[in-house]
Amino acid sequence: MIIDVHTHYVPQGWPELGWPGAPRLRVDSEREAMIVVNDQDFRKVGHECWDPARRLDDMDADGVDRQVVSPTPVFFGYDRPAAQGVRISKIFNDLALDICSDERLIPFCQVPLQDVELAVEELERCKRQGHRGVEIGNHVGDLDLDHFVEFLQHCADIGMPVFVHPWDLPGGPRIERWMAQWIVGMPAETHLSIIAMVLGGVFDRVSRDLRICFAHGGGSFAFWLGRLENAWHRRHDVIGTSEHPPSHYVDRFSVDSVVFDERALRLLVDVFTEDRVMLGSDFPYPLGESPVGQLVRNAGFLSGTARAKILGNNARTFLGEFS
Ligand SMILES: [Zn+2]
Repeated sequence: MIIDVHTHYVPQGWPELGWPGAPRLRVDSEREAMIVVNDQDFRKVGHECWDPARRLDDMDADGVDRQVVSPTPVFFGYDRPAAQGVRISKIFNDLALDICSDERLIPFCQVPLQDVELAVEELERCKRQGHRGVEIGNHVGDLDLDHFVEFLQHCADIGMPVFVHPWDLPGGPRIERWMAQWIVGMPAETHLSIIAMVLGGVFDRVSRDLRICFAHGGGSFAFWLGRLENAWHRRHDVIGTSEHPPSHYVDRFSVDSVVFDERALRLLVDVFTEDRVMLGSDFPYPLGESPVGQLVRNAGFLSGTARAKILGNNARTFLGEFS
């Protein structure tokens, strides 16, 4: 069973979201559309974003059995008033279920994380409706994930896995060229989020049955774990805020495999073990892996068992299929 845990959808249109500049879709043809945000072109998307038949064809071509289908983060709406956030989540979550009517497509919902009570309510509604997990952005304004322990614990309590995706990237002239927001900003955001989980004491407080995965190989965290570990010991007065040194927590979360380079994949397996890396592609976006899974399939250092875990068995654990 080959399972891709990192893919996105965009519905082919949605009701007016209710504020000037709200995300909308300009349909340019049967197969192409433009996501428009603040009345500016944001991202061109194709029909694989909304057409399940096209997705299934692409999966067949790449030998993928199932996809976890998550929201596209530009629609999270965390910066909107809570009531509006609920409405956005409901609109997109219900449309996701239409796209994911085939059992090979596994829907993950979004929640209005700016209001934890309402986020929990929407999470539970979505679980009842058939969503199998939740994708969250890696921060809400200036609040990192250590401010959302209650929500994460609730996910653990009701057995909903969490996929953390970077979004709302830092801007400014130095990072708004060469796609640096995606190339540098996204890995840095995810790095920061994992640090917030560790140093913010989230893993000390949340129960071990929380199943949580970070996108893009966990960003730059694995490469700089040694620096973090050194700082935790040498500047314990400032960052010794977790019960244990950071390396203690690497078995508490998973990362996906979309790192494009066998040396990077090897580092992920070295740091997190073959039990904590899962196939992810970022399908169908251009900075994703295509064909899906080629890095893992071709990585010579992986044993047959390790490859099978990364391509699908770990995802089945993440999705709760063995519990
Ligand atoms: Zn993605």
